[in-house]
Amino acid sequence: MVKTISVLGSTGSIGAKALKIAKNLGIDVAGLAVFSNVSRVEEQIREFRPKKVAVFDEKAAKRLKENVADLDVEVLCGMDDLCEVAAMDGVEMVLNSVSGMVGLRPTLCAINAGKDVALANKETLVVGGSLVMERARATEVKILPVDSEHSAIFQCLQGCHNKKSLKKLILTASGGPFFGKNIDELRAVTKRDALKHPNWSMGSKITIDSATMMNKGFEVIEAVWLFDVLADDIDVLIHRESIVHSMVEFCDNSVIAQMGVPDMGIPIQYALTYPERVPSIVERLDLAQVGKLSFCKPDNETFKGIDICRAALKAGGTMPAIINAANEEAVGLFLNEEISFLEITEIVQKAMDRIKAVNSNSLDDILAADAEAREFVIKNFKK
Ligand code: NDP
Ligand code: MG
Repeated sequence: MVKTISVLGSTGSIGAKALKIAKNLGIDVAGLAVFSNVSRVEEQIREFRPKKVAVFDEKAAKRLKENVADLDVEVLCGMDDLCEVAAMDGVEMVLNSVSGMVGLRPTLCAINAGKDVALANKETLVVGGSLVMERARATEVKILPVDSEHSAIFQCLQGCHNKKSLKKLILTASGGPFFGKNIDELRAVTKRDALKHPNWSMGSKITIDSATMMNKGFEVIEAVWLFDVLADDIDVLIHRESIVHSMVEFCDNSVIAQMGVPDMGIPIQYALTYPERVPSIVERLDLAQVGKLSFCKPDNETFKGIDICRAALKAGGTMPAIINAANEEAVGLFLNEEISFLEITEIVQKAMDRIKAVNSNSLDDILAADAEAREFVIKNFKK
């Protein structure tokens, strides 16, 4: 098990859970990074006593510096300093749980510094999967999945020595708050409706992505890079109960599934203790109480997210970065109540139709594609 970690995005839903898990396991937390939540990160600093803390927002960083002047902690600010926390000495593993593609550079910095990465920040792999996995292979750094579906697949694959024995990866999806609704019903849904996820309590951006099914599409892209498989070999299955977190089908038609209560504590802990398993603070699964597990095909006609992501993967190059940026901006506009729910995926589709992808996996080209797509959305759809 690792002894010392940094947690990027420590004030978020995953980050806060990761700190709880780390505390229970006796793992030291030497670095933290957040966007601007000064009061929450101050509490975390007083509890975990990290050496370095990066606050992305400059004003917030200044306030935090004053608030923790009595402590022996270095308060840093901005992207370069976020990267410094990701690469700091003495840390064996970086848990990246920031929200959005802003997590890409810190992931690369951690890899370049030889740190294993426990990766919750799926946008990192959506926009830069090829680059990240290439760097991880070159530096022999482990990328340990924290996203529950990918952790499930990773767990199902333990003991699988021959890639040729894999037939399909089967990602499960809860279907989100709007499962079963048709387009007409979706016209009227509000931000409040979209933020009510049936099974998981998560940050607002991923909760909206779950409602549009962009989240599941992103997870298809994430799985392609993490497990080096073709998108056509990844199926998605709706499973409303969120008990089976994903499955692997092998060439003999045997299917292995990973189950547990819907609590991110399990995938977070598995990434921290891999390859070992140790007791956890997460509740036990009581299948008799769950009673029934159900599965059905997703409605890709109504919820376009998965097909958009598959098309972006097929287009290749910087197209996944384009759709990710358009989606980040569109979700922001929806949360600001400037566009309707259905417009989110319409905007992402338009960005894919209008913006030309470049056949490259360089960081500069990814960042340029990201900037172009954000500008396209703001210019054309911001009220
Ligand atoms: P939250 O919105 O709850 O938290 C986001 C965290 O990132 C906060 O700590 C925030 O800081 C920080 N942050 C945002 N922007 C920056 C920045 N520029 N620099 C430094 N820190 C930043 O998100 P979640 O925890 O729900 O999700 C985090 C990631 O994990 C996402 O990529 C998501 O897709 C993925 N994930 C989440 C799951 C979940 O159950 N929540 C499940 C699987 C994957 P501040 O508080 O200051 O704004
Ligand atoms: Mg997931």
